[in-house]
Amino acid sequence: MPVLGAPAAALLGLLGLLVGSFLNVVIHRLPRMMEARWAADCAELHSPSGDAHPHAAPTEPYNLMVPRSRCPHCGHQIRWYENIPVLSYLALRGRCSQCATPISARYPAIELVTAALFAWCGWAWGLGWSALAWSGFSAALLALAFIDWDTTLLPDDITLPLVWAGLCGAALGLTGVSLRDALWGAVAGYLALWLVYWGFKLLTGKEGMGYGDFKLFAALGAWFGWQALIPVILMASVLGAAVGIGIKLAGRLREGGYVPFGPFLALAGLTTLVFGPSAMLAAVGL
Ligand SMILES: [Zn+2]
Repeated sequence: MPVLGAPAAALLGLLGLLVGSFLNVVIHRLPRMMEARWAADCAELHSPSGDAHPHAAPTEPYNLMVPRSRCPHCGHQIRWYENIPVLSYLALRGRCSQCATPISARYPAIELVTAALFAWCGWAWGLGWSALAWSGFSAALLALAFIDWDTTLLPDDITLPLVWAGLCGAALGLTGVSLRDALWGAVAGYLALWLVYWGFKLLTGKEGMGYGDFKLFAALGAWFGWQALIPVILMASVLGAAVGIGIKLAGRLREGGYVPFGPFLALAGLTTLVFGPSAMLAAVGL
């Protein structure tokens, strides 16, 4: 007897709270891990013997598991009962228990949004591999959206597995998209933005986006099939333009005036997940 509807939504919603808590760690640490890796690679290139720089400080392990989370202000190690999704934030009234520095409301917000998306997947597909696959898809998009917003990076560590997962999901019949549509979705998604990138670069001499955006759009094509690419790109462009103009008018443009495109691609992907590609097409009048 498959678990459907509300019970599946509740179970996956709980899982989503835990995954959301983990996403907060990923969003914070993955870009720092990438920077550390680049720094290590550069150091290796510049040292003649190929060894690490002799004066380089011994590096403490820093990954998604260690060290334990600390308050960035006072270094207080977060105890397990201070790390329960949403509840701990409420119990602590949004402040560090040691130094009372406010904790960003983004942490519980990301936990709640992840829970809502997971619950939606449980509701729509029932408890099973399809719901888990789409839950994983939404978690990856959330992580990418926030990392790109914070750092203008879309890590290959997330975008490339997301492309493969979409193709495998289609092959296994989990995503409801045929393998043929998924494959052409990945190819067309990558090529379309690659062409836009080079067209824009040749015309204006500027880079309007990065290679991470091509990979993310390829992933969306793999998960939704090539038919969804046009509504997704239209929605992402409209959202991106609206937010970009809003930031400009508010005078809060960051240095270089760059607004990353990835968050809007991810948001369009999540909207397509919830409303379905055909509703998206109808919304843009196609
Ligand atoms: Zn503190």
